[in-house]
Amino acid sequence: VRGLMMDTPLLITSIMRHCEQLHGDREIVSVTADNPRHRYNYATAFRRSRQLANALRRLGVNPSERLGTLAWSDYRHFEVYYAVACYGAVCHTINPRLFEAQLEYIINHAQDRYIFADPDYLPLLEKLAPRLPLLRGTILLTTRENMPRSELPNLLCYEDLLSRESPDFEWPMLEENTASSLCYTSGTTGAPKGVLYSHRSNVLHTLTVGTADVLGLRNIDTVMPIVPMFHANAWGVPYSAAMVGAKLVLPGGKLGDAATLADLIETESVNVSFGVPTVWGTLLQYLHRSNRRLTKLRRVFVGGSACSWALMQQLQQRHGVYTHHAWGMTEMSPIGTSNSVTPVRASLSTAEQDAEQLSQGRAVFGVEMKIVDERDQSQPWDGIATGLLKVRGPFVCGSYFNTERSDAHDLAGWFSTGDLAAISPNGHLRIADRVKDVIKSGGEWISSIDLENAAMAFPGVAEAAVIAMAHPKWQERPLLVVVPQAGQTIDTKALLALIGSKVAKWWVPDDVQLVTDLPHTASGKLDKQGLRQRFADYHWPQKSSP
Ligand code: AMP
Repeated sequence: VRGLMMDTPLLITSIMRHCEQLHGDREIVSVTADNPRHRYNYATAFRRSRQLANALRRLGVNPSERLGTLAWSDYRHFEVYYAVACYGAVCHTINPRLFEAQLEYIINHAQDRYIFADPDYLPLLEKLAPRLPLLRGTILLTTRENMPRSELPNLLCYEDLLSRESPDFEWPMLEENTASSLCYTSGTTGAPKGVLYSHRSNVLHTLTVGTADVLGLRNIDTVMPIVPMFHANAWGVPYSAAMVGAKLVLPGGKLGDAATLADLIETESVNVSFGVPTVWGTLLQYLHRSNRRLTKLRRVFVGGSACSWALMQQLQQRHGVYTHHAWGMTEMSPIGTSNSVTPVRASLSTAEQDAEQLSQGRAVFGVEMKIVDERDQSQPWDGIATGLLKVRGPFVCGSYFNTERSDAHDLAGWFSTGDLAAISPNGHLRIADRVKDVIKSGGEWISSIDLENAAMAFPGVAEAAVIAMAHPKWQERPLLVVVPQAGQTIDTKALLALIGSKVAKWWVPDDVQLVTDLPHTASGKLDKQGLRQRFADYHWPQKSSP
């Protein structure tokens, strides 16, 4: 017997309608190239999204066509997110920090018809344009007064387009599996692959991550995603915040500008924020140097790469900020797990409590996971067995856009994450490494994440990365590369002694190299491939023994 409840499609349009009706007066504050502190509310944002939808129609955009964005996190990008998806087209967020060849590949592969771009990216588009045969035009996210001179064909001004349009637009009633948005994974090997989200997957992800033990956002919160809107839906925050009507603070291109971030947090009363560990590390160093404290921030979600215990401690002890460690992937919309306090945590020993808080947390509703060995046999959830992590669920990528079936999917429909992990009996996930980053020493493996975590606890360490280096006897051995904090010197012997007190003796890196910076990927994560290239000519010191 079929249930007799209404068969209402799950659409992003419904998040927009709900927000407009109930939370229309809640603010969105943005940093843009033409305004350091733009503010308006959700009602105005969605009115402008309707104007944009009329403009799309006038431009002849057909449903299901892809429209790219090359833009930082701000209110115009937010309007584009909603207008394009709810119009029935696909909002393709492009990471502007990718190499030109990757951008060319992605834009052509997605067959983008128009690109919404921040003025900063005009020179880039001018260069790429002759190699983008399918692109019909570029819409610059700015006002007429701020339009730069350019020879780029079909260059349009966003504010001009909107000013000519009516705010009345009847959003189409789409089928819920209609594609809404597209994001390519920044894969360091092979061609980038497109993850094509649907309205349904985004709404389910928003409902799930909205629960109290995941993001738990509320109407009275002020939230700031420091993760860019061009990467994995800014962890879904543009939808989650709108669903509950939280005040939204969008830091534009200032993601690496600690002073601006600290000002935004204090003056806009941001109490929940989201970002990769590097962002928090940079912010903490700035706060320390300038002797400032965060008085409004209460909770942060840290993910994208492993969060160190030292980072969590500094946030808690110096600023009273609780860290939720989360794990996810572009392919997972992106949140897969999140760490919140469990009822049993209080009864654990301090060391066990710390280990549980440091773990990547537990699977959110809608994500099934398992770990498997080399023969694809499921491993026990005992916190010790470590295997390849596989996932499946309604907001996990089923196959990539316009690509033959990928190696990442098995016949039973599980998606292989490429991460090695252990899962504790009560479901806490601990990521040991990316399969391609793990160090294989004498047939056993060593977790680079655990070593980095231990190194970060050493005073004066700003950033630490561990990579595998070829070794004549052990096949591979770990090399630790450290960026000291400004003005600090590092006693590398003492550093290795500290690491030795936290991990098995044979895991201790064979050498430490001090550097002034580490390479990062386009989404702000440590770029281990780039680091391995930097150390391509490295030789172990004379006496190297594990
Ligand atoms: P992306 O799709 O670019 O967001 O990258 C996803 C990958 O980032 C995952 O497969 C993990 O390897 C890594 N990652 C994300 N969150 C974490 C975390 N909390 N700890 C360790 N690795 C993480």
